[in-house]
Amino acid sequence: MAQEMRSPIESGCPDAFQYMHPVMRKNYGQWAYHEDPQPGVLLHVSRNGDKIWTVRAGTQRILDVFTLRKLCDIGDEYGEGYVHFTIRSNIEYQVADEAKVQPLIKALEDAGFVVGGTRNSVAMLSHTQGWLHCDIPGTDASGVVKSMMDELIGEFKEWNMPNRVHMTTSCCQINCGGQGDIAINVQHTKPPKINHDLVSNVCERPSVVARCPVAAIRPALVNGKPSLEVDEKKCICCGACFPPCPPMQINDAEHSKLAIWVGGNHSNARGKPTFQKLVASGIPNNPPRWPEATAVVKKILKAYKENAKDWERINDWIERIGWPRFFEVTGLPFTKYHIDNWRGARASLNASTHIRF
Ligand code: SF4
Ligand code: SF4
Repeated sequence: MAQEMRSPIESGCPDAFQYMHPVMRKNYGQWAYHEDPQPGVLLHVSRNGDKIWTVRAGTQRILDVFTLRKLCDIGDEYGEGYVHFTIRSNIEYQVADEAKVQPLIKALEDAGFVVGGTRNSVAMLSHTQGWLHCDIPGTDASGVVKSMMDELIGEFKEWNMPNRVHMTTSCCQINCGGQGDIAINVQHTKPPKINHDLVSNVCERPSVVARCPVAAIRPALVNGKPSLEVDEKKCICCGACFPPCPPMQINDAEHSKLAIWVGGNHSNARGKPTFQKLVASGIPNNPPRWPEATAVVKKILKAYKENAKDWERINDWIERIGWPRFFEVTGLPFTKYHIDNWRGARASLNASTHIRF
């Protein structure tokens, strides 16, 4: 007799309601308004008068278990045992008793955590976990985040900016990392170097050929072995061939750089969504502190802080003053690399929605 099928144990995300603070659960969808009593603290008031305070602290994206335990212990002792994490890697504690807010902040600060990141501050830089598990990283995004936030800690703790500033980093050039007012992304500047001895053992050549967005890769026989070749005139150094074929090494200590993009906007609440635009390229990818990239970000933030009107986001501000003026006030050089004169996409960009393997 055929065995009965085992039902799957894992079936997606667990129900979030079971982990919510009871006041949040009770008032789901019933919040009347919120206030910002001080940096790092939110107060939400329900239509029935229930109140809940949220205390936000910056945490790194990849938490070690000791830090996580410490954060949870603080939540048990000074909060009410409920936490959640924001998409920008901040931990948030919810308390229904106002008297618990200041002791909770003190406990967090005494333990070395930084409370802030709300309203018109520079929120925690977000990054992806590629350094640990993804197959394309060209840099250690976590290191860039740590170095930059160390320099911007005052902007995280205070409300000094015209509006919120979201920053993102990425560890490769093609996927995550564009969800911010300022994005710090890897920029490869040379085509991949192919290790022909390994290609035939490691790579499935058709899938590598299909992966290239500009059709720059062709199958080739090298020294009698099946391999690949790259038309370097077409290659846009995107790095997309590296994940399916690690012998197409594109990461390079000297030629993999960082680039900074600004003005992206996903939302269409006040204006149309906008693409990021390149404002600084060829910045050295310089661990362990990335001083050159941080200096550019600080220049942009300083100009934004001094010149934007209250509540203008970075993209609104640039839209109002215009890009030429943006380069003037930030002092960033405008170079030939800022001009998008690439026309290859018209003929060769893979613009269909079909997934090919
Ligand atoms: S940025 Fe690139 S390398 Fe990093 S996690 Fe995303 S896809 Fe992977
Ligand atoms: S780096 Fe990008 S453009 Fe260049 S060969 Fe690889 S996939 Fe194609």
